[in-house]
Amino acid sequence: MKDRRISILGMARSGTAVAQLVRKYGAIPFVTEMKSAEKVETEIRTLEDQGISYEVGGHTERAMREVDFFIVSPGIPATAPFMQEIERRHLPVFSEIEVTSWLCPATIAAITGTNGKSTTTALTAHILNVAGKKAVATGNIGSPFAHDVVVLSDRDYAVVEVSSFQLERIETFKPKVAAILNITPDHLDRYKQFEAYAEAKYRIADAQDSSDFLVLNADDETLAKAKFWGTPKVIHFSTKRSVAEGVFVKDGELVYALEGRSGTICRTNELGVPGPHNVANCAAAAAMTLVLGLDPADVARGLKTFKGIEHRIEYVAEIGGVRYINDSKATNVDSVYVALQSFDRPMIVIMGGRDKAGDFTRLAPLMTGRVKEIILIGEATEKIAAQLAGVVKMERAGNIYTAVEMASKHAVPGDVVMLSPACASFDQFRDFEDRGEKFKEAVRALEGGKG
Ligand code: ADP
Repeated sequence: MKDRRISILGMARSGTAVAQLVRKYGAIPFVTEMKSAEKVETEIRTLEDQGISYEVGGHTERAMREVDFFIVSPGIPATAPFMQEIERRHLPVFSEIEVTSWLCPATIAAITGTNGKSTTTALTAHILNVAGKKAVATGNIGSPFAHDVVVLSDRDYAVVEVSSFQLERIETFKPKVAAILNITPDHLDRYKQFEAYAEAKYRIADAQDSSDFLVLNADDETLAKAKFWGTPKVIHFSTKRSVAEGVFVKDGELVYALEGRSGTICRTNELGVPGPHNVANCAAAAAMTLVLGLDPADVARGLKTFKGIEHRIEYVAEIGGVRYINDSKATNVDSVYVALQSFDRPMIVIMGGRDKAGDFTRLAPLMTGRVKEIILIGEATEKIAAQLAGVVKMERAGNIYTAVEMASKHAVPGDVVMLSPACASFDQFRDFEDRGEKFKEAVRALEGGKG
């Protein structure tokens, strides 16, 4: 790092964090940002405090001058003109997780997949913590890896949630244990080709060798056909069948079979989080922590005490016998598919937002007998209404406040009212967290009214 000239593309979050990190190790970072100064005021303040140079309002030749390598934010596509220019000049480009991994003394556990990444990341860190280890859940889940790495020593664990965008720019990123949870069509707006999307995820294992572990979902058809460059020991998890090496469900119990040892971890109805998809997430986290050397009893303690994370099938309140659930993070059809299977009570579901080329007809078979009504909000209202016409009762609410009010009027004791949108949030909200907060606000307002 010493005296290396590093240009960092993109100031937000990981950009500013990685600039500070490399600076700490003696490099000379320069941060370049397309957005105008007003949009990145906080980041500018941080950089100025640290004496780190930057430019805003566009990437200029200054960012190319005498540069040793680039660190690119996951938000910038390879097709951006500046990226093409970097490519034309054959200059090296890395992602923030790649560069941070060079400077990380802790054992790295990395998690990717289409759905369940944050839950499994938080859960894996929780299991390690409950077992008395210092572990941080980092990366896409919260603050950037580059920000959190500074608190870790070689006795600790970095449990890193990585997106496929970050994995596009890795080279030596070598997790001790990596997991690919599942691969289903999402982000198809950016990844025109499903295969390219899947392959970006397989890269998580590229630098792994026989001293490392790769945890794969044995129930995922795409993963079953996957080819890997690395040579890790492959471990499986499954909720449907037994596997030779790994963790699986058998007669209502989560069991393991690893290197000749086998046994029960706990019963699936003892897991801290609801729904069949969470059984899979628990199995993945159990497999990861077992190969890291944890005792099955410690793993069980972590699995039973994990309470889930905000905006993912999050329990909000019970008002007049109706349970309100915030699943704002369900930004694609698959997430809603699993959410609908997580309750055995009649449901009123609030759906809609910015469509991500979702096929809502896939939800139809799950609606009968489960969903009493769908309340629609946001841009995708008419598309969902057309695709599910005749399948389930639907009403248009426009916004989340009206939606919650309508749902509360239509619900009877014993029902579940759940925000599980199947769409992105950017049409009406800052992000999915903002959408979830507004939903909870609306629910609390009901509580106030009834109380
Ligand atoms: P990610 O970080 O990959 O987006 P999260 O853990 O934040 O995943 O969960 C997001 C949503 O995805 C949840 O609300 C849930 O509906 C769904 N989900 C979680 N785990 C799984 C899984 N293993 N398989 C399918 N869907 C899942």
